Amino acid sequence: MRWAQLTLAENDPGQYDLHFWLDYFARTHSDAACLSAGGCVAFYPTKIPLHYRSQWMKDTDPFGDLVAGCRKLNMVVLARTDPHAVHPDVYAAHPDWVAVDAEGRKRPHGSMPGWWITCALGPYNFEFMTQVTREIVTLYRVDGIFSNRWAGSGMCYCEHCRDNFKAATGFDLPRTLDPQNPARRAYMEWKQQRLFALAAVWNGAIRGVNPGACFIPNSGGGALSELDMKTIGELAPIIFADRQARSGLAAPWSNGKNAKEYRATMGAKPVGAVFSVGVEEAYRWKDSVQSGPEIRLWVLDAIANGQRPWFSKFCGTLNDRRWLPVVEELYNWDYRNERYLRNLAPLARVGMVYSQQTAQYYGGERARQKVEDHTLGYYQALIEARIPFEMVHDRLLDAAHLAAFKVLILPNVAALSDLQCRQIHEFVERGGSVVATFETSLYDEWGVRRPDFGLASLFGASFDGAGGGLDARMMNSYLRLETDPQTGRRHPLLAGLEDAERIINGVSRVHTRAAAAAADYRNPPLTLIPSYPDLPMEEVFARVPKTDIPEVYVRQAGAGRVVYFPWDIDRVFWEVLAVDHCKLLRNAVDWAADEPRPVVVEGPGVLDVTVWRQKESMTVHLVNLTNPMMMKGPLREFLPVPAQRVAIRLPEGQKGRRIKLLVSGQTPHAQQSNGQIRLTIPSILDHEVVAIEF
Ligand SMILES: [Zn+2]
Repeated sequence: MRWAQLTLAENDPGQYDLHFWLDYFARTHSDAACLSAGGCVAFYPTKIPLHYRSQWMKDTDPFGDLVAGCRKLNMVVLARTDPHAVHPDVYAAHPDWVAVDAEGRKRPHGSMPGWWITCALGPYNFEFMTQVTREIVTLYRVDGIFSNRWAGSGMCYCEHCRDNFKAATGFDLPRTLDPQNPARRAYMEWKQQRLFALAAVWNGAIRGVNPGACFIPNSGGGALSELDMKTIGELAPIIFADRQARSGLAAPWSNGKNAKEYRATMGAKPVGAVFSVGVEEAYRWKDSVQSGPEIRLWVLDAIANGQRPWFSKFCGTLNDRRWLPVVEELYNWDYRNERYLRNLAPLARVGMVYSQQTAQYYGGERARQKVEDHTLGYYQALIEARIPFEMVHDRLLDAAHLAAFKVLILPNVAALSDLQCRQIHEFVERGGSVVATFETSLYDEWGVRRPDFGLASLFGASFDGAGGGLDARMMNSYLRLETDPQTGRRHPLLAGLEDAERIINGVSRVHTRAAAAAADYRNPPLTLIPSYPDLPMEEVFARVPKTDIPEVYVRQAGAGRVVYFPWDIDRVFWEVLAVDHCKLLRNAVDWAADEPRPVVVEGPGVLDVTVWRQKESMTVHLVNLTNPMMMKGPLREFLPVPAQRVAIRLPEGQKGRRIKLLVSGQTPHAQQSNGQIRLTIPSILDHEVVAIEF
């Protein structure tokens, strides 16, 4: 439940305080540790030739001492290896183990003079590191090997990669990043196969010695991550999200997003949240200490999203102790409330799909803008709307994986196979609802454009490819909010925009036409007002103030509902954060859900709201993100939000027996009726958790 990582510096042996660390592990109630063992630098008396030993350890065994101390504390122990770099003598003995760049040059280490970057896909990892792995497990019988930077440092052109790739695929190593290039596409697949094969070799070596142990790759993530998360979810019994802190412009919910992405394929298996106590920016101050509130917010949002905290401290010799009480306090709260943090399943009814294949084959080098920015925009809108939701992996759209959800959001999930489209159709046939944006399903799983949307019949709209089919960059375009001439009313999608006649459009739009049979579309709630001159100011007036071109398609499909925005509403929301777009994104989900939310939280501020079920209880986490440093840390302080009114829907057939607030410790005055519990939380500083025992 609580992890401690101490990454030793080479000169720690002989000068760091072992007993201080063991005492800190005990005081934080850490029940598992990850400790530096080998790879770049060995911290134990290895017998393997060329396995470089810390020059400070002399005849001691720093790793062994730490393992022994942790075992006395009854802790689970992982050994950390890092195979990404080697010492000059390794290069001299095995020059072929070193990575090679596109120009054929051996790759020196960027930070450590004299050291070299290794090839991840050749004999260095497959043979040498397998020996290292086996030796560590044999000597210390650890519970697992956690390997850092094991998957390579960019593309390698060494002789092994060249020959193995040619033998496997018939291609020469690609020199382009274009995913539509056949060699590049083959390489992307081959590299994954090679890494999963490596993981299997190491796992086999480990389990050959200790059948209860396993290999844990430091890998994974969302759409932009390289290795297929579905496969990782099948192979790994536990995984850790190595997202150490915010850097640059980053939302405070980013760590919760990591949690959701990992859980999408890990299911109920444990997922840890690796967090740094230091500043994480490009300048790599690895020895630094972050602001206390920033550490807290990062960790609390991970816990609220079902992850188990893992602090990561580089260097055993402390130069700045300010982080120690911050982590100790967090871990002690976690320890005291552990029974309410052992979640069985989230109770969210909304799932947002993420798609690695869309990022890789449709997004390519621009995946961040073309794919991830859509997700980030919708994510922010759901946070603002306080709608609990999960992330869903696009290769897990079968009935079992979608059973918990009423609404599936597809934020420009452009690349979908026929099978995936069929699974989404079946989801709707079972009564599910879909909200989709922009080019969703317009490409197949390899990023090749289809003649029409794979989900055309679901959208009730077809792709209109004449004239290119896309306005890539619209300036000064608007949406007209329509009133149904028959009823004189507006669609619920436009709730909160009653006093507006037009609002800003997005930037890119797909040309569509309504399916002929779709009677629903005679009066689309939003229509296009095409771009008009934005300069000189005298000329800024709409040349075409009204069209009948739908900018949203809404329809009832059996018991399900479908909302399709043929434009980049989510991506533009991430860029511009216009509140009108936020309302549309929120209303689309609420209308599609067509049922009360599992939890409604009313009051000022921005909160991440998650809802969970445990064995004999349920919890609602509320993480207070309201802060002037919300979109760019580090936080200076927490600012409390005032009273929040909370209405929680109980799972079918359950009654709340005891209700308490796990942070303030108070027992709130609550009313229970019709399967719902209502209460008021007077104030939230950093977070609060409502726990309801059944
Ligand atoms: Zn190589």
